[in-house]
Amino acid sequence: MTFEAPPLAKTVAALPAFVPFVGPLAIERQLGRRFDLRLGANESAWGVSPKARAAMERSLRDCAWYGDPENYELREALAFRHRVSPANILVASGIDDVLGLIVRCFVDSGDAVVTSQGTYPTFVYHAQGYGAVVHRVPYDGDRVDLSRLAETACRQHARIVYLANPDNPSGTWRSATELLEFAEALPRRAVLLLDEAYSDFAPPEALPAIDVGQPRVVRCRTFSKAHGLAGLRIGYAVAHSETVAALDRIRLHFGVNRVAQAGALASLGDERFVSAVIADVARGVEHYGRLAHRVGLRPVPSATNFVAMDVGDREAASRLTAALLERGVFVRRATEPPMDQWIRVTVGLPEQRAAFESVIGGLLSEAGEGEAAWSTSAPTGKAQR
Ligand SMILES: *Cc1c(COP(=O)(O)O)cnc(C)c1O
Repeated sequence: MTFEAPPLAKTVAALPAFVPFVGPLAIERQLGRRFDLRLGANESAWGVSPKARAAMERSLRDCAWYGDPENYELREALAFRHRVSPANILVASGIDDVLGLIVRCFVDSGDAVVTSQGTYPTFVYHAQGYGAVVHRVPYDGDRVDLSRLAETACRQHARIVYLANPDNPSGTWRSATELLEFAEALPRRAVLLLDEAYSDFAPPEALPAIDVGQPRVVRCRTFSKAHGLAGLRIGYAVAHSETVAALDRIRLHFGVNRVAQAGALASLGDERFVSAVIADVARGVEHYGRLAHRVGLRPVPSATNFVAMDVGDREAASRLTAALLERGVFVRRATEPPMDQWIRVTVGLPEQRAAFESVIGGLLSEAGEGEAAWSTSAPTGKAQR
């Protein structure tokens, strides 16, 4: 018996070491401290609905028993909500899981896929994992460039075109009319993978009517944002029944746990709670717009639960992110231009927004006074408590 490492599968051996994101808890470990303000992962500061909490507590009693691999009740409720059939709904462990299943379903190793350069990264993570060739299209200013995406998809004979609408990390959106035209311009064999993680916050005109008769479009939704269930891992796709049937052949059937199922179902039924969260988030987006102007940053228009603030240059944005982290404030900065000169700040509760305002106001006025404390210090990685 020797202990030589067995060879890896070819697609895996060829993969770059790539983590779509470092999670908040991992960043806390790296910094050696807890965040005082966690505004970097677009989670919900409003938590979960009390009804969802009660349903999840009840479901815990049955955790010795397997949950429902068909997600029957939740699919019924979602089908009713979207006026489709349960056969049009696939429930999975968050949109991140749906994205991988769609890639596996439609892409053979070597096939082309298209996305925007610097947008939400998990699609690319899965595409590379299944051996796809990824083509990235730069943004057009603050927004994704639909005509270049379509043009690239046609030129490369893409099998999947990924679009987050509203987008992350920009927060911007395209209208339903633009999206329908875009879908028409895609190659005949391409799937439009429409990631609508922020649909709860989006204006109605950003969301095309759901048409499950259209086999080339897959819509993705999640309970991680307005419903506050990010840690439970549950989301879904709405698609043509044949697509859902194909996904049923490859999904992890017991992958969505019973606590998540119970929480999502109860949260879906608590419209009063969820609409209050959405209204508060809208107030927070406005608050951040005023705040950004006040401290000299440009707020990027947002239809989400976060606001990107344009610092004006990449180095300054990087230093500002580091200085905020050092003061216990977690925000993110994207790595691709033009977003690499922005900071992305999740909407928090009013008191968290006030605390953020005072920290960033302090940093930027220090910087304005020439003695730019925040511009020279980077996190040391040492424990600071
Ligand atoms: C937050 C987010 C997701 C993650 O959704 P999960 O259901 O938690 O996996 C997917 N897409 C975008 C664009 C997001 O911002």
